[in-house]
Amino acid sequence: MYLVAGHGITVGYHRCFTHGSFKPNRPLKIALAAAGSMAIEGPVLRWVADHRRHHAFSDRKGEPHSPWRYGESVPALLKGLGWAHIGWLFDVEQTPRAKYVPDLLADKDLRRVDAAFPALLLVSLLTPAVIGGLWSMSWQGAASTFFWGSIVRIGLLHHVTWSINSICHAIGNRPFAARDRSANVWWFAVLSMCESWHNLHHADPTCARQGVDRGQLDSSARTIWVFEKLGWACDVRWPRLVRIDGKRR
Ligand SMILES: [Zn+2]
Ligand SMILES: [Zn+2]
Repeated sequence: MYLVAGHGITVGYHRCFTHGSFKPNRPLKIALAAAGSMAIEGPVLRWVADHRRHHAFSDRKGEPHSPWRYGESVPALLKGLGWAHIGWLFDVEQTPRAKYVPDLLADKDLRRVDAAFPALLLVSLLTPAVIGGLWSMSWQGAASTFFWGSIVRIGLLHHVTWSINSICHAIGNRPFAARDRSANVWWFAVLSMCESWHNLHHADPTCARQGVDRGQLDSSARTIWVFEKLGWACDVRWPRLVRIDGKRR
């Protein structure tokens, strides 16, 4: 459930719907939007609108979740990290969807998945409990899998996603020229399904692979590669050496 919902976010919500790193066929498009919804990070159109605004203003005025919002001093950064991690979710200002996601609003399938978010939320919460209950034929089994497969899994994935916004814009290596504070954080790669190569991502947002250097794992890119081999995805924007090297500091 962690990997399905997590890659629904990284491959679906992020690399496909926000940045157009590849074109999925219709069933894959719907499946990715539904899988991403099961991370319970909001309906697809709202998530994508917020993330496009993040790229449009990254670490500048107008950005929804920059850790540098309050300034550069240590106390200001600590306060900003709290804002970037979780505080911004309670901001009353909403990203206007008509301005940021007109392409997705024009897609009937995505509008339907977006509207089905409450139902997908229930599916995400209850699936582990149903499987655990049937597997063990006991209420205790259902309660146990609900705790680990729903509560812990969703909580962990939320903190991992939010850490990309907070940690990966505060500390780490910056080998690529991006116009913001985005950074690569190697020790966070596996858990974040390899979205923590975040400096490269801001330097080349539409690239389907974010871990472009030797030894940099990227399970999300590998998943896209499998979809391409199966014929479910096309027009994948794989990294080109000349383009990537041109973005190095
Ligand atoms: Zn970022
Ligand atoms: Zn992005």
